[in-house]
Amino acid sequence: MHTIDMDLVEMTLDVMKYTIDRISNVTPELGSPKKEEDLLRIVGETITPEGIGGENAFQLFRDVLVKATVPIDHPRHLAFVPAAPTRAAIMFDLVTSASSIHGAYWMEGAGGIFCENQAMKWLVSLTKLPEGAFGVFTSGGTAANLSALVTAREEWRETYPECAKERGLLLASTGAHSSISSMAKVMDADIQLIESDNEYMCGKELQEAISKLNEKDRKRLFAVVATGGTTNAGIIDELDSIAEVCKKENIWFHVDCAYGGGALAANSVRHLFNGIEQADSITIDPHKWLFSPYDCGAVIYKDLELAKKAHSQKGAYLEIFKDEGAQGFNPADYQIQLTRRLRGMPLWFSLAMHGTNKYKEAIERGIELAKLAEQKVKSNENLELVRPSSLSVVLFKRNGWSAEDYRDWTYKNHREGFALVTPSLWKGESVIRFCFINPDTTEKDIDMILETLN
Ligand SMILES: *Cc1c(COP(=O)(O)O)cnc(C)c1O
Repeated sequence: MHTIDMDLVEMTLDVMKYTIDRISNVTPELGSPKKEEDLLRIVGETITPEGIGGENAFQLFRDVLVKATVPIDHPRHLAFVPAAPTRAAIMFDLVTSASSIHGAYWMEGAGGIFCENQAMKWLVSLTKLPEGAFGVFTSGGTAANLSALVTAREEWRETYPECAKERGLLLASTGAHSSISSMAKVMDADIQLIESDNEYMCGKELQEAISKLNEKDRKRLFAVVATGGTTNAGIIDELDSIAEVCKKENIWFHVDCAYGGGALAANSVRHLFNGIEQADSITIDPHKWLFSPYDCGAVIYKDLELAKKAHSQKGAYLEIFKDEGAQGFNPADYQIQLTRRLRGMPLWFSLAMHGTNKYKEAIERGIELAKLAEQKVKSNENLELVRPSSLSVVLFKRNGWSAEDYRDWTYKNHREGFALVTPSLWKGESVIRFCFINPDTTEKDIDMILETLN
């Protein structure tokens, strides 16, 4: 099964040809989902005792199955948070696989971890955290948030041993991503969401919420989560005033920038993140706005040692990694995963190839596209802008439309292979949401989508 024969060489060429075609195709077909029974009817059972043959399996994938997926890098995919991995990063994802490197410990992965750490050094520099801060790549924002919050919880229990058996309590703004509540559940912690008068949370509101906690809850409070770019609307909490409150109250300050983190590199909006340099931990998803292929998140800590205390795994067969000869940075020590892919390597290669200036330009382009869309919405009498664009998100309404109209419009565009744009909710009402990531999206793409709303 692992030996090389001519068939495999030919297969490899086929696969490489597909890959090259796909990488160079900037407008891949926008596939649509099919029912599982329909797919099964077309391709048949694929796992059999004798195997169906590589060529056959690959053909089924290329001709049928991939067409039942939506390419996230399509320039008219503006739903959720799309992605647009650079060609360089995708190529290097293949290299990462082919190199078979274990990314948990320096002893085995040194050269690859070196690459990841080079990319991480740049990410950390964007945050302006003090000397000594560092981070590690994770499977995504959810895992990064969990890793950070577990570190916060362990530090809280260490500081207040009388709380060793207490459930922790988290405070976050209402705009916090669903993964925060979800990870609180995993940690068996409680979460309270703070309603804001404005569209973002500020220190004053946080202070009020803390003051309202009873003595027991105040003791259980172990972290505050602010959001650096809400996923729904691109809104950034007032990080500097929140940081001050956390410092005064001695509470862990986590900033979730899974979506917005790329914008730390954009000079036009960097000031909106002031205060992030005081965070105890930060989440950034390179697979969102830093053009990495799935999956790649990052968690950054002001004090890396606290993460190590929380996450370093112990086991008889792991002891060798802590040995003198293996000294170096062990990614397994700073997040929830042990065996791990070197998922920061594609980002490293792409950054090394293009330079950080190109990244800044590509991120600024997303912000520009949002502004452009905002102007077009404003000047279209059928449409109503809901709020000014923020980062790369624009929310607006089609006059007279109900929730069903938005849904039908979404399905129609998707079915026709034209675009994927999904509705969202804003203050309880249905809206259309554009989220721009792909710098190859054009003004014409925006015009074409808006025309379907006339
Ligand atoms: C997307 C997102 C997450 C979750 O990240 P995954 O990579 O999907 O796990 C968390 N927080 C925010 C603000 C996000 O936008």
